[in-house]
Amino acid sequence: MSLLNKNYLKLKSGYLFPEIQRRAQLFADNHSNISLLNLGIGDITEPLAPTVAKAICEATQEMQNKARGYGPSSGYNFLKEKICQNDFASLPINPDEIFISDGTKCDIAAMQELFTTNNQVAICDPVYPVYVDSNIMAGRGKKICYLPCTEKNNFLPQIPSQACSLIYLCSPNNPTGTAFSKKELQKWVEYAQAKSAIIFFDAAYEAFITDPDLPHSIYEIKGADSVAIEFRSFSKTAGFTGLRCSYYVVPKKIKVEGTVLHSLWTRRVDTKFGGVSYPIQRGAETIYSPAGRQEIKQTITSYMNRTFFFKKELQKLGYTVFGGQNAPYLWVKTSPTYSSWQFFDHLLTKGIVSTPGEGFGPSGNGFIRFSCFAPLTVLQEAVLRLKTT
Ligand SMILES: *Cc1c(COP(=O)(O)O)cnc(C)c1O
Repeated sequence: MSLLNKNYLKLKSGYLFPEIQRRAQLFADNHSNISLLNLGIGDITEPLAPTVAKAICEATQEMQNKARGYGPSSGYNFLKEKICQNDFASLPINPDEIFISDGTKCDIAAMQELFTTNNQVAICDPVYPVYVDSNIMAGRGKKICYLPCTEKNNFLPQIPSQACSLIYLCSPNNPTGTAFSKKELQKWVEYAQAKSAIIFFDAAYEAFITDPDLPHSIYEIKGADSVAIEFRSFSKTAGFTGLRCSYYVVPKKIKVEGTVLHSLWTRRVDTKFGGVSYPIQRGAETIYSPAGRQEIKQTITSYMNRTFFFKKELQKLGYTVFGGQNAPYLWVKTSPTYSSWQFFDHLLTKGIVSTPGEGFGPSGNGFIRFSCFAPLTVLQEAVLRLKTT
């Protein structure tokens, strides 16, 4: 008889977005006269940068002329070197510490495999649901220590009183849009050093930071290269959600119980991962070319300008709005009488799809997230609909 991994039965039923999709579809089926304005899912809406598209096509044609088989499991050196020179210039990171992959979602969900189920896990609340769910699947459901991020602490997690050995940080944060200052991040690096803990640092929205004083990488903090694994994705940075390419850094300095984590993880990648396709890595490479860089920057600026616009309009309408400065997400307080799902349903009566805050964790109740990955016209229409009660 096959035996089930019963940890999976402990997951909350349905991942957040299918439930939103279900309710939105129900509304659409009953209101064919009202168009849905999707400010719910955090997915890009602008087309792929032409320079990237061209490089992918050319790399594919190259394969038509000359066979190219399996690539290195952890990615091609041409891309690792570009990443290192550009994203970690003057930081203590080498190309062979970089792993190219097909998405931060799977990278950060998988990394916990190297650790036993006895590790106490610290996870921000609210946050990207993948950290919690992947730890529940692995059998650490009872080992999760939630770090509430609330209005009172400016949505920044406080150091836990209990010892945690795996720490998930996301900056800028999805969903609150809040980002760590160097000083705040330093506290976590020091905590990790003191407790021999490992930090999983999700910097998927690094490119959206507009505040010049904020750190873009955890390795800007001295000593972080012996305690932190940083995850980055081309998904939001360069519109790769449908192409799939990400990378992460496992510094060789990190040791767990005397074992170099980099070696262990390399062994894992060589066994379980076949690498990212050559054309996609060639496409990612051009993000670092002058033309690619400019195209991508323009798109990000445009997303952020829309975010600033929508935030200002919401504030004019009397909403209390957080975030939206270093990430294209707005974290909006629901009116006191509404839970976040109730406020979600209320917005849906206007055809506006948001994301209920509690979908990201219990402290998200009382908030909804607006994603400004949307055309300006959609955001403008949302403002008009919000004005009519
Ligand atoms: C969108 C997002 C990612 C990106 O995941 P990919 O698998 O690379 O597309 C990672 N972390 C957070 C917090 C995100 O919101």
